[in-house]
Amino acid sequence: MAQQEEIQLWQTVEPVEFTPRIDDAMEAQSLLISTRQGPGYAIAGGQLGHAIFSRATHVLMDFSQQACALRYQVDGNWEQLPPLDRETGDAMLYTLKQLCQLNPADRRSAQTGKLGLKVAKEKYGLTLQSQGVQTGERVLARIEAEKVPFEKLPDLGMRDKMVATLKDKLNEGGNIVLVTAPKGDGLTTTWITAMNAADRFIRDFQSLERQDLPEPEIINVNPNFFGGDTELTQFELAKKILLKEPDVLMFPELPDNETFELALEHVGKHQKQIYIRCVADSAIEGLAQVISQYPSLAKEIVKHMGAILSQRLVRRLCDNCKLGYEPTPQMLKQLGIPAGRVGLLYQPFIPPPPEQQVDENGRPAPITPCHICGGRGYFGRIAVFDLLTPGDQLKAALLKTRDINQLTQVARSEGQRGIQAEAILAVVRGLTSLDELKRVFAKK
Ligand SMILES: [Zn+2]
Repeated sequence: MAQQEEIQLWQTVEPVEFTPRIDDAMEAQSLLISTRQGPGYAIAGGQLGHAIFSRATHVLMDFSQQACALRYQVDGNWEQLPPLDRETGDAMLYTLKQLCQLNPADRRSAQTGKLGLKVAKEKYGLTLQSQGVQTGERVLARIEAEKVPFEKLPDLGMRDKMVATLKDKLNEGGNIVLVTAPKGDGLTTTWITAMNAADRFIRDFQSLERQDLPEPEIINVNPNFFGGDTELTQFELAKKILLKEPDVLMFPELPDNETFELALEHVGKHQKQIYIRCVADSAIEGLAQVISQYPSLAKEIVKHMGAILSQRLVRRLCDNCKLGYEPTPQMLKQLGIPAGRVGLLYQPFIPPPPEQQVDENGRPAPITPCHICGGRGYFGRIAVFDLLTPGDQLKAALLKTRDINQLTQVARSEGQRGIQAEAILAVVRGLTSLDELKRVFAKK
């Protein structure tokens, strides 16, 4: 090649080690040996190493005629990277498909496969999805750390007072607790963390799970499976479990009507509990969704609804480089913060583009990016929680209307703060910025 070769990002980090998801160790070993011969092995290992080093949870590869465009998702935000040339991109994808036991030659059909990764003693699971599109092929690699990073609700950013209220609701008996978050916003993590706050050591917890969608293990929660080759429907499984009179029935997704009806009887007559998880944008929306899904059970559901926990993830400002500023009185008023409550709010420090990085004489003066966040201004994410505990007025309103605005107003009049007010508290605490809230709450 005549041109001097530039160093690519994938060459700058420690490459990942691959662990094919194959039970037979010999077979896995021979797959590794054969893929290692290919030109894409080092590229795939390096690129994924770079992605993990950058804390990316998703890598999007768009193959077109000329190039392989690359994007990372870091803390829920997409970032563009320099593209790879087609040859390099193709070689990388060929290797990844081989390791995921997909057909590398097929660039059109939808294919999904899995692969284990290891770097610096940490293990990750990779899910690769590829699909031919009009312009070429689109490939999404999802990277998940095997270790769930948070254990306790305060670690996720929940206020102490809210932790106490949630614990009460999780442990009081005779109620329903609903856990919601928007799709892709860490709902499973919140569910597991909330369950960890429940008193599982003196009470009996039974979880009803689809055999093809088993849940991560939680200590002292007994998983029970239906569907698949269990020869049990959800209802039959629920009947069987209820004979043992468990204290809590857990549904990782909305149960079918007859199962929910049976479970509700258990709540009403025996002071037992139901925990349910569902995807929703807010606590009120989750609540309205559940009630409208079961018209014949609406009254019973509303009567026993104890609490709805909802959650949004926002990026956490980098403590090393965030910038303080004095909010104007108007701003504080808009945010509903009493004057004198806060001195400074914070915003991210984003370095200007390289051509503007000059000294007072106009000479280039490059700014070294923050070594913690790499110049992103944010590092990691925190959860903003809303805990709705419906009072009598809201319960009455729920049986009359599903209008989210009306229901929200009633909730406010009962003193429920709502998730946006909770999010503003996170800004006041210097954990995140107003711009970040705008970004998170604008997306639908
Ligand atoms: Zn920083």
